[in-house]
Amino acid sequence: MSRSEWVEISPTLVDPRALMAVRDMVDRVAPELGLGQVDVRYVARADMVPANERATPTVFTSSGPDLHGSAIYTGAGGPGWPPRPTIYLVAGAFKPNDVLHEVRHLWQSHTGFDGDQAAREADAHAWAGQRIKTLPGPWRPPRS
Ligand SMILES: [Zn+2]
Repeated sequence: MSRSEWVEISPTLVDPRALMAVRDMVDRVAPELGLGQVDVRYVARADMVPANERATPTVFTSSGPDLHGSAIYTGAGGPGWPPRPTIYLVAGAFKPNDVLHEVRHLWQSHTGFDGDQAAREADAHAWAGQRIKTLPGPWRPPRS
């Protein structure tokens, strides 16, 4: 499988309604999880972003092109690390569940969640799936 490089982009390149909705969602759930301020940053595949629109050099790499988001929990990681717990969302690709999923990963790191990668993913998936049901407004999934 090929690796993909992701770069941070300016939030001005993201739909402002999505920016507001994500901020609202993160600010609702972060306190519930005992997290303080959570930063939200946006990334795009490096080969999709002109050099002059990149906010940073490569932020991270992934094993494939179908990433929706990522989470970095750090407060004392040193140079090159975000100063606060941060979720990275792939501009134009993330869904509401992905936002919750990534915040849950921050909680897992915050609390020392005991589990392997599969357990972490299962917990984040399950929590996001439950929490999304009780969010108000545009984040509530349509009834089927
Ligand atoms: Zn995950």
